[in-house]
Amino acid sequence: MTKRERPTSARSGDPPSFRCPTCSLELRDVIAALQVSFVALDDDDRYPGRCGVYLDRHAEVLTELGADVAAAFFADALHVASVLESVCGADRFNLAQLGNVDRHLHWHVVPRTHEEDFPSCTPWDDPRRKTPLEPATKDSLIGALRAALTSPRVQH
Ligand SMILES: [Zn+2]
Repeated sequence: MTKRERPTSARSGDPPSFRCPTCSLELRDVIAALQVSFVALDDDDRYPGRCGVYLDRHAEVLTELGADVAAAFFADALHVASVLESVCGADRFNLAQLGNVDRHLHWHVVPRTHEEDFPSCTPWDDPRRKTPLEPATKDSLIGALRAALTSPRVQH
């Protein structure tokens, strides 16, 4: 496991990005850097706000992590889920960690609502074709998520 890689930006004002030196995972438009992860929008108009929460260092399974890092990684995913509830009006969320396609350890955090057309489907079983968000919607969503994820947390 390598030390934490901070998001980098080629020019001031560019969205930060992250590239894993081990598996070459590349994240563009990083929304926020949390305790031990980077958050990136999964551009999916079926689930506006769907995010990936990627560990800030290379690992492929949770059991590779120490208990402290694993707990922080889970807390980061829960923080993103909480923000999706407020920013996207989600009634609930799906939280999944699969690792079947992308080796780099990550959580899928998917906002869900009671009014959806296919509420009992997982995002992977959804019969609708995954298409990108409208650019203005995507930009607005990234801005709102970035503001919410980087603001000081309110303790409940
Ligand atoms: Zn990696």
